[in-house]
Amino acid sequence: MQQRKPKGCAESAARGAEQPGAQTQTQTQAAEEEMERSLHQRKRKPTAVEKRRGSAAYVALAVFVMAVPPVVVFLGGRAGSPAVWIATAKTLRRGSDDASFPYARSAHDNRLLGGLLSEGFEEKSCSSRYETFLYRRNPARRPSPHLVARLRRHEELQRRCGPNTDSYNRAVNRLRDGGKVDAAAHAPEDDRCKYLVSISYRGLGNRILAAASAFLYAVLTDRVLLVDRSNEMDELFCEPFPGTTWLLPRDFPLASYANFSADTAESYGNMLKNKVLRTKTGAGGDASGAQLSAFAYLHLDHDYGHDDKMFFCDDDQRLLSNVQWLVMRTDSYIVPSLFLVTSFQEELDALFPERDAVFHHLGRYLFHPTNHVWGLVARYYRAYLAPARQLIGIQVRVFDRRQAKSPHVLQQITSCAWKEKLLPEVLDAEETPAMPTPTTPGANRSKAVLVTSLRPWYYERIKGMYWERATATGEDVSVHQPSHEEYQHFGEKSHEAKAWAEMYLLSLCDVLVTSGWSTFGYVAQGLGGLKPWVMYKPANITTVPDPPCGRDVSMEPCFHAPPLYDCKLKRGTDTGEMVPHVRHCDDVSWGLKLIDRN
Ligand code: GDP
Repeated sequence: MQQRKPKGCAESAARGAEQPGAQTQTQTQAAEEEMERSLHQRKRKPTAVEKRRGSAAYVALAVFVMAVPPVVVFLGGRAGSPAVWIATAKTLRRGSDDASFPYARSAHDNRLLGGLLSEGFEEKSCSSRYETFLYRRNPARRPSPHLVARLRRHEELQRRCGPNTDSYNRAVNRLRDGGKVDAAAHAPEDDRCKYLVSISYRGLGNRILAAASAFLYAVLTDRVLLVDRSNEMDELFCEPFPGTTWLLPRDFPLASYANFSADTAESYGNMLKNKVLRTKTGAGGDASGAQLSAFAYLHLDHDYGHDDKMFFCDDDQRLLSNVQWLVMRTDSYIVPSLFLVTSFQEELDALFPERDAVFHHLGRYLFHPTNHVWGLVARYYRAYLAPARQLIGIQVRVFDRRQAKSPHVLQQITSCAWKEKLLPEVLDAEETPAMPTPTTPGANRSKAVLVTSLRPWYYERIKGMYWERATATGEDVSVHQPSHEEYQHFGEKSHEAKAWAEMYLLSLCDVLVTSGWSTFGYVAQGLGGLKPWVMYKPANITTVPDPPCGRDVSMEPCFHAPPLYDCKLKRGTDTGEMVPHVRHCDDVSWGLKLIDRN
């Protein structure tokens, strides 16, 4: 059965908040919910107009940068958002027209994505890690020197405290004993090893965004990230950290952790509500490490409640920093709200001077297709996509079964592609193109369209259209769709592998048209470093939205279920108005996303 995904969940989470049951609700919750309601009703903002860069200044800066690279590196250190570093990073991005496949770049830096990737892996075990750059027309943004340094430090932590180390074994014993083991029995280094277990579930897009969020939180809090291996997390991705594993060992002692939910007594929200835990500023006092249980469960799912959302407050972060084991379940990209936690802000600014490239870097660092999936990607790319001068990815995700063959959705796709001049328009059957057709076969095959969808209908219609009619520009357009799985096959390996391969292929395109609300599209745009044209969800399924699509404000994923709460004032607030670089999403009006304000 086709699943309606967590976007629906975000919606229902917000709806749930409006439901009664609320005799016990505090005024704060009521205000927060009122804020959510008003955001739901808000009209979509117009999309941002692309800014043009001054090309003369651009060239001059490039020359300067080439001449004095050490200065750039030096300035790109720990101190906030150095303007020179940012400009340099932008300058070093290549255009997509200046090479043919494989897009070989001689610089060692490109293979390691500007230092994002570590050298310490055996290449054959994961071919994608060091080969991807040959397939990417649109190269990576440069990671900041601070991010690079922090990743190396985190890898060292994962090795020092990860599975099969004495520290890990002692921490697990402590967990098994419910944290009651005498503190004196622990070597001091044990206290420095803290853990975050990440449970990712739902569709692949959700799982990837959840794992990326958990990783960033682990980095910010110096915790070892261990990923629950179910839902193919162990089959689809290579190990991201050299010399250790990120997979949670099978003998992890919290037997029921995979079933933790909003009702779990050890959830942070429930422990706050039941006064098992108290923050310093909360009613009734303090909580020291000694009072804490060995673990806490962070329920950050779409259906989380007011107390769970306190996770995003500074006092609560201070309290949580004393808990050795945290288990986190989320289906969302919680990162935008981490940027609103005051105690994380300085570090986040240094890690990500370009705020719109957070998932771009995290995703390219963490998620490398395993060799089987990479085979699907690389073979398809070489066979069907590499010859084209320009690649246009169109991701068609419909959340209503009645839209499996919808002329309205088809019209939305073509209107978007034509209005934005991503594809040439087709002529009436009897018309001939203004431009002559070249006599050399293949010379005119300038555009290839990659359609991804669970259904074949849209691909068939678009392909048929470009076969049966000439284009106004005389260009030939080839159209391709790797698979049409019809519905989401939960837990089926070959299905998951195809989904991951198609997400990845989309990320290799020059231009993306995505379906709003879809985490599948978010992952592709972030990995690709592409600001997509987003097709808005229609108000009802028999209308075509006008405009049919709009250019997104950034390539960052949208957090569909953010808290709308001011931790300092302890009341509901519009968290899309708190800092300039966190704003509401165009596709999900109450969601939050990061944008670059530099
Ligand atoms: P979302 O539901 O659009 O946010 O994306 P998710 O990736 O979280 O969940 C949708 C799931 O449906 C995917 O993980 C796939 O299993 C499947 N799916 C959706 N669209 C496609 C597609 O275009 N190609 C393939 N192969 N699978 C898809």
